[in-house]
Amino acid sequence: AKKQGRSNYQLFTQNMNSEAMRRVHLDHSLRRALENQELEVFYQPKVDLQTGQVFALEALIRWQEPGGKIIPPDEFIPLAEESGLIIPLGAWILEESCNQARRLNRIFQTPLRMSVNLSPRQFKHRQLARQVDEILERTKLRPDLLELEITESAMAKNPAKALRTLHELSELDIYLSMDDFGKGYSSLYNLKTFPINSLKIDGSFIRGLPNDLQDAAIVKTVITLGESMGIEVLAEGVETREQHDFLIKQGCRQGQGYLYSPPAPAKNLDYILSRPLIS
Ligand code: C2E
Ligand code: CA
Ligand code: CA
Ligand code: CA
Repeated sequence: AKKQGRSNYQLFTQNMNSEAMRRVHLDHSLRRALENQELEVFYQPKVDLQTGQVFALEALIRWQEPGGKIIPPDEFIPLAEESGLIIPLGAWILEESCNQARRLNRIFQTPLRMSVNLSPRQFKHRQLARQVDEILERTKLRPDLLELEITESAMAKNPAKALRTLHELSELDIYLSMDDFGKGYSSLYNLKTFPINSLKIDGSFIRGLPNDLQDAAIVKTVITLGESMGIEVLAEGVETREQHDFLIKQGCRQGQGYLYSPPAPAKNLDYILSRPLIS
């Protein structure tokens, strides 16, 4: 019977295209990775552009296979999203990040915020607010030191439902941030109705600064828009001094990108946080 099973499996695999094969393999390895602690949360600073000081960290997941190969999140997050594995994986990332934030806030005097990405499926999960609340209780992190980054596309399918979820979350007194703003489905209506504390201008608009006139116009406008609506605005993907100078000149107060620091493992944070990252 075993032999029979095996040949069925071979037949099955022969009929699958290589993309499907790759995904089955990846899904299997990801489950293993979660069990074997091959996953590690890295942290990328968010910088106050006026002082160069870090005011927050964004948690970004990294997966290093035993062989040393690093698999980027763009490759496995969508898969975990499809298989549903993102729910336990996301809960683990959230708890890990909150513990880290709690540790850092014990060491450093100024309060540091921790930003955690939510995938669309996590955002749609009925128990989300309860899960977040439980993790805050367990880790004893001050709620206003947790920020959730949610893309507009995760909210776009059903804006009425998204609004209810956002209200549930904001009742926990956590920060809410709209990720990748401007990319895809941006709507001013959402900006007006959603209880959002912060906007992240997508890196694709920062890339062309300061010379690309369209990018410059869009970035200026979003900075002004955020400011007049009382929403924090952060520029992501800042890579050059010229981009940094342009942002400062336009009154942007927050930035993130390789210019200041790449995402780093937790063990490097004490050093990263000990000094301004730009002057
Ligand atoms: P994102 O949330 O938009 O994260 C920003 C991405 O830009 C990160 O890539 C970051 O490493 C990268 N980045 C930072 N500074 C620069 C820069 O100056 N230039 C350029 N070109 N890139 C920069 P990463 O870590 O590979 O993550 C990619 C995406 O995967 C994230 O996009 C997010 O959508 C998803 N992701 C990563 N970690 C998590 C997680 O823990 N949970 C969930 N649900 N999604 C995650
Ligand atoms: Ca993000
Ligand atoms: Ca982003
Ligand atoms: Ca992105």
